[in-house]
Amino acid sequence: MELVELGKAQLERLQWQLRRCFKDSEFYRGKFKKAGVNPQDIRSLDDMENVPFVTKQELRDEQIEFPPFGRYVVSPQRDWAELHPSTGTTGVPVNTIWSHNDVNNISNWTARTMWQFGVRPGDIVQNGFSYGLWVAGMSTHYACREIGCFVIPIGAGLTERQIDYFVNPGSTVLLGTPSFALYLAERMREKGISPENLSLRLGCFGGEGGTEIPSTRKKIERGLGIEAFDYYGLAEIGPTISSECKEKRGLHWCEDHLFIEVIDPETRKRCAEGDIGVLVITHLTKEATPMIRYWTNDYARLNLARCPCGRTHARSEGGILGRADDMIIYKGAKFYPVQVEKVVRSFEELGDEFRIEMTTDESRGTDVCTVVAEVLDRKTDDKMLEGKLKKRLKEELLVTPAIRLEPFGALERTTFKAKRIEDRRKKQ
Ligand SMILES: [Zn+2]
Repeated sequence: MELVELGKAQLERLQWQLRRCFKDSEFYRGKFKKAGVNPQDIRSLDDMENVPFVTKQELRDEQIEFPPFGRYVVSPQRDWAELHPSTGTTGVPVNTIWSHNDVNNISNWTARTMWQFGVRPGDIVQNGFSYGLWVAGMSTHYACREIGCFVIPIGAGLTERQIDYFVNPGSTVLLGTPSFALYLAERMREKGISPENLSLRLGCFGGEGGTEIPSTRKKIERGLGIEAFDYYGLAEIGPTISSECKEKRGLHWCEDHLFIEVIDPETRKRCAEGDIGVLVITHLTKEATPMIRYWTNDYARLNLARCPCGRTHARSEGGILGRADDMIIYKGAKFYPVQVEKVVRSFEELGDEFRIEMTTDESRGTDVCTVVAEVLDRKTDDKMLEGKLKKRLKEELLVTPAIRLEPFGALERTTFKAKRIEDRRKKQ
């Protein structure tokens, strides 16, 4: 779609969405009134800057006050199809609902993201995304039907069986989290199965960061003998709402279903094109639990130029650049686990797993940050490796963490989302 046409469609859908939220949701009506916004005043996409943001904490508070779903549910119950609460490890899960039309739209945009990275009718899709309450398993399953693929609905887990299916019937596409992909590659290596003998050709990985980091992507590609792509979604907005295309020049957004903004967290105004800020997303078509200017806490940038693949929908180059929730503050420096990951995975001598441990130095009462990594070969000179790792981490993080090297296999593996920060600090 040409950009002018796309903008027109977005505005039309946005006005529809704002009107129905104002009319049928006490939550939104209250917010809009407090901010002095009437849906009739939103006459352009730029006018959206006057509409207040929605945060996850607000949704939680709303649910507690008005159980079980809060007053941000807009569709009547007869239209509801599925319940998908968020899977965050902290706090009360936020409930989101898909209406029957929402299921159709989600299946459709997910099929589009899968087509984008190269899935075609007849592909054997091994769906390693978790099924059930989590959003990505269901959406990719429905999308396989839209495209006409043979799907193996295995979900996350059953590692040995996953590898069996690579061999027979010979899956061609793998979906899952990047940690799980790396774990499968590790198990294949241990079992002596060479990726060259498999039919597997594509993989798309999301649910957590990783694929956007070149060293991690390369490890997945080499370990499984595939071309790997990045996926992004979040429970409150929807699964699999963006993926890379064959050009790998960033995550393409489904802009006919979502209105994407990048906001400066300090000024709360829109960033200039290309500048890094917080992703703020508005549902243009979602019926049941629409989000208006949802503050994702994830950092990205936006490129509005047409992609060499021909698509006009905006892209976020480099994928998700950081997650505010994961930020570590240590000795005055701020950094993200993805930065540690980038360094650890650039070392040939180290395995893919790592941990960031936060503890308390009891004699001084200060924080200690330790990066734990696994050494692949027992004969490696640990002291020298430790020195090199420390130096590279200092360059990347602007602060020097402590290092602990463990033998390969010492850290727990995960089939779902990896939890790589262990906070064991003494609370005051
Ligand atoms: Zn593209």
